[in-house]
Amino acid sequence: MIEMKDVQKTYHNGVTALQGIDIKVEQGEFVYVVGPSGAGKSTFIRLMYREVKPTNGEVLINNHNVAKLKEKEIPMLRRGIGVVYQDFKLLPALTVYENVSFALEVIEDSPKKIRRKVMDVLDLVNLKNKARFKPAELSGGEQQRVAIARAIVNSPKVMIADEPTGNLDPDTSWEIMKIFEEVNARGTTVIMATHSKDIVDTLKKRVIAIEHGRVVRDEQRGDYGYES
Ligand code: ADP
Ligand code: ADP
Repeated sequence: MIEMKDVQKTYHNGVTALQGIDIKVEQGEFVYVVGPSGAGKSTFIRLMYREVKPTNGEVLINNHNVAKLKEKEIPMLRRGIGVVYQDFKLLPALTVYENVSFALEVIEDSPKKIRRKVMDVLDLVNLKNKARFKPAELSGGEQQRVAIARAIVNSPKVMIADEPTGNLDPDTSWEIMKIFEEVNARGTTVIMATHSKDIVDTLKKRVIAIEHGRVVRDEQRGDYGYES
């Protein structure tokens, strides 16, 4: 369902962030992307929702060549992909409820249905009781849980996360991972770049390691493989 064929990304400054990337991720997989800083992990992830375009090769999402999408087709791609960032990227002026409902594709939903969808995902991340709070009134872990609720409110087939626990303490990181496992158990593909040796070596999943812009390892139930 996600496939890269001989993908290369060279940025405008001449830096080749990725080259010769050939990978396939099936629906329902849980994949960690690991590797040193600057290895190309973010670029790898950003190619999947067309935050960046490949310089060469093909990125296929559900057999659609992402590079060939027209501008007006990109929202459709992104609706099927929930993205979670290290720094949460919540809208500070909006409440928790509004941060989630803002992301919802509402075109044909009744107000009642919208409310149910938003409250259902807030329930999943255990934040129903803070729906009226603003992001600044929440802990880091709570803010990340709002961001996860926002990412999954449209029931995407894929959730992509770029170092989602990078700003969180270990206990809070485990709470976030529990939610990721629950999202994955409900059928969503999860792709997560991480520097957490602890998480990767404990919750065993597929591991794709990238170094100097190339995949150097791709293992089911793999290890982190670096010192932490
Ligand atoms: P694309 O080819 O995908 O359009 P660009 O090379 O134009 O990508 O860069 C996209 C944006 O990222 C630019 O605004 C650029 O300033 C910024 N950028 C440049 N260098 C870096 C870097 N080393 N790390 C992160 N972002 C960068
Ligand atoms: P990682 O996520 O593993 O740290 P990145 O994909 O962010 O790696 O970066 C890979 C390489 O590409 C680095 O050398 C980085 O400086 C460069 N890079 C990343 N984004 C941009 C950009 N927008 N423009 C130019 N260079 C970039």
